[in-house]
Amino acid sequence: MDNQTEPQTLSEEPEITLRCNKCNRPITPAEAVLTPTGYRCKDCVRNQQKVFDTSRTLDYVWAFLAAVIVSFLGSLVGSYLGFYTFLLAPAAGVAVAEVVRFITKKRRSLKLFRLVALAMILGGLPLIAINLLNFLMSLSAGAFSFYSLLPLGYQVLYLALAVPSAYYRLSGRRRL
Ligand SMILES: [Zn+2]
Repeated sequence: MDNQTEPQTLSEEPEITLRCNKCNRPITPAEAVLTPTGYRCKDCVRNQQKVFDTSRTLDYVWAFLAAVIVSFLGSLVGSYLGFYTFLLAPAAGVAVAEVVRFITKKRRSLKLFRLVALAMILGGLPLIAINLLNFLMSLSAGAFSFYSLLPLGYQVLYLALAVPSAYYRLSGRRRL
């Protein structure tokens, strides 16, 4: 892809040329990518992105399993805490993130973070399913009350707080 021709500057006005601030190669404005540290050529940007994607295949397997288990344990604790789930859940998210970071030796990738989020949801599903079932049974028994909905609500709250907490912790990002 590199048949860079030096701009002909014999008699014409010299073109505004940029240089990649990493490899110092002259680049045209069209090729230049503005990064937080200045203009870079596309090759250097691509190499930089590889640095942020360091996950190995087994990382996905172990991180997935760990996130399912820790998330499930968190939801189990949450089922005893009730209202205080809102305090536990962000901490559980941090716990998942730290376990994943430990297992993967801090190797990282966007795919890994997303997989961990998915795994946490799966880990929280058993108790959501059980509580949903309980709620439906209380409905069919004609014993509906607001309080029969609470355990289910707390489990949903648990995931709603724990998953973003783990994701931010892993990725250092603000949003999903
Ligand atoms: Zn470059």
